[in-house]
Amino acid sequence: MVSPPWIPVPPQGYGGIEWVVHLLVEELVRRGHDVTLFATGDSTTKAELRYVFEEAQTPLMHQTMPDALHVGSAYRHVAEEARAGRPYDVVHDHTAWLGVAFAPLVPSPVVHTIHGAFIEANRIFYGGLRDHALLVTISEYQQKDFPEIAYAGVVPNAVDVASLPYRARKDGYLLALGRIARDKGQAIAVRVAREAGIPLVLAGKVDPGNDRAYFEEAILPFVDGASVRFEGEVPNARKSELLAGARAMLFPVQWAEPFGLVMIEAMACGTPVIAIRNGSVPEILADGETGFIVEDEAGMLAALDRVEEISPERCRREAEERFSPERMADRYLEIYERATRRPRA
Ligand code: UDP
Repeated sequence: MVSPPWIPVPPQGYGGIEWVVHLLVEELVRRGHDVTLFATGDSTTKAELRYVFEEAQTPLMHQTMPDALHVGSAYRHVAEEARAGRPYDVVHDHTAWLGVAFAPLVPSPVVHTIHGAFIEANRIFYGGLRDHALLVTISEYQQKDFPEIAYAGVVPNAVDVASLPYRARKDGYLLALGRIARDKGQAIAVRVAREAGIPLVLAGKVDPGNDRAYFEEAILPFVDGASVRFEGEVPNARKSELLAGARAMLFPVQWAEPFGLVMIEAMACGTPVIAIRNGSVPEILADGETGFIVEDEAGMLAALDRVEEISPERCRREAEERFSPERMADRYLEIYERATRRPRA
């Protein structure tokens, strides 16, 4: 299992791919599979952990050097194990580009999960190298822009339902959780909460560059510690508390969201989600049952009046039934089986 080198597995604060990798690895080990995890040295796992970086390379996120050293070392190990007569049955790669680029040179079949939104660069890249690996998406929506690829399947992400707190009685605030970015639309959440007169808690990291500018222009002027409270990037325990206590989570997403882990995290805590229809949202939320799917800001405001119609217990059950690590592992195992039978490119 090759995780990206940016964030430890599991994450202690921000991190999406690494949560998915963590839940998958732990479930595979629990079932008796022999798993080696390539991540960073500050990761914690029941699998065998291998790494070149002692610490997650967060400050260098998306730069080529850490990725190249990390993936290159992982793939060299895979080749050495095969030469020593201990070949891996399958390699599951979660990195951005390099894991797919060099997949045909690896003596084991490679499964690759496309975690990001399907931007133009992906179209060029996967268009050119589509037979290098079995390609998996995390939502059906991700496949819409490029249906020509014979994807190996859709495997929705999972959430650790058992370790997230469930609360049926909620506090009075609304929550917007996630990295602060124009794509995630937190300024809309701010306007909706202010209009409704309901306090909003905003939690999320702010990256330098465009995201910082967005935060300073569109969010910060409204942060007064009461009607809008900003908590920044929160540790896992605080995140759980905030999720479980919120009257609703606002998810005014403005881009083709490839999945949106925060929606299933809210669901697991019995918290309804009000989301703007974009990307994977309709695949994840059941409108009127686990939250509301709205078209715009006005729809989000109107949906606030109906939050009490959503049963927290129903939300929790939906997370258990549709987004459990067991279910995710079942689907990946089926794809691993197929990978082992596939003729090599
Ligand atoms: N998250 C967090 N702290 C933050 C921002 C996000 O713990 O400050 C978590 C969030 O709960 C989720 C993940 O990071 O588990 C982000 O995944 P998501 O798919 O929602 O967003 P993206 O990957 O697009 O940033």
